[in-house]
Amino acid sequence: MLACLGGEPVKKSPWPQWPSADSSMIQALIEVANSGRWAISGCFNGKKSFERKFSEAFSAYHGARYCVPTTNGSSALSIALEALGVGPGNEVLVPALTWVACASSVANLGARPVFIDISPDTLCMDPQKTSEAISRQTAAILLVHAYCRVADLDAFTHIADKTGVPLLEDCSQAHGALWRGRRVGTFGKIAAFSMQQSKVLTSGEGGAAITDDDMLYDLMQQLRADGRRYVKGRMQSGEMELEEVGHVMGSNRCLSEFQAAVLLTRLANLDVENDIREGNALLLERMLTSVEAVEPLHRPWQMDRATHYQPCLRLNRDAFGGRSIEAVCRALSCELGIYTVLLKNHAFGTV
Ligand SMILES: *Cc1c(COP(=O)(O)O)cnc(C)c1O
Repeated sequence: MLACLGGEPVKKSPWPQWPSADSSMIQALIEVANSGRWAISGCFNGKKSFERKFSEAFSAYHGARYCVPTTNGSSALSIALEALGVGPGNEVLVPALTWVACASSVANLGARPVFIDISPDTLCMDPQKTSEAISRQTAAILLVHAYCRVADLDAFTHIADKTGVPLLEDCSQAHGALWRGRRVGTFGKIAAFSMQQSKVLTSGEGGAAITDDDMLYDLMQQLRADGRRYVKGRMQSGEMELEEVGHVMGSNRCLSEFQAAVLLTRLANLDVENDIREGNALLLERMLTSVEAVEPLHRPWQMDRATHYQPCLRLNRDAFGGRSIEAVCRALSCELGIYTVLLKNHAFGTV
């Protein structure tokens, strides 16, 4: 009997805990606690801040020049969009199926989010529809690599090159994914990441924006630290590492030293954990080929590695004898002891 009807569930043992801490992370947290410096707006204590260490490690991981850590993914999107000149009177193309912050961060700047339908293959923005929606008002394309897939970066880099509209990659669900052997997040002008509790790299709350562009980096630093940026050159203990610039009106979106310490130690495990998830996903996809009721998502050949954040499956409606997909999701949730929801164009969830 099905678990949702009172039977024994298929999955009886508990799932691994997420997120989880290891000793290097606890050690780093203790170091911050005893350091007298809990934020980059605290005084220099003779040691490189965890925020700087993480920022350098995260940009090096991507082969990018700069990284600006932020309080969360939404603030990474906000500083990226504002640095790209998004504001009242212009538009940003965003996927119609994604987390709400993509559209709300655009609207918060007084600009208009224009929704672009997704491609059924990748569940990411459709390149053709994106191309058709570009107008003189378009200030940026916010491309999300969503649902364990990478958007068609060949097509999107071509669109950006041809039209001059900057590409902003949202990699909040794709830390470490590879397209033609290159990390996602390095194809556009800027990439934004969320490090919220559920993401594959997390500090509970956290975020970052990466770029190769000197001017965008300078702007984003000021936008996230109340108009301040890092002082260039050597510091003495007791000095402030941030200097007032005041070229733009920023706000405080700085990541704390505790969160930066968590991210720095978690980043060291990211590739290993991504490999484990990819191996498990490939196994599951192989095993499911014989199950008619479900269809794994298409894998674009250029996607050398997927990042598995909230795995998705396509359900064959006809295989469930007229039952609603919602009912199938509920039954799956009971069976597996995980939260399984229907993905639709105005809601976020996983199947
Ligand atoms: C999680 C997520 C965000 C928002 O990040 P927060 O850290 O919660 O602000 C933005 N975009 C996408 C695609 C996400 O998955």
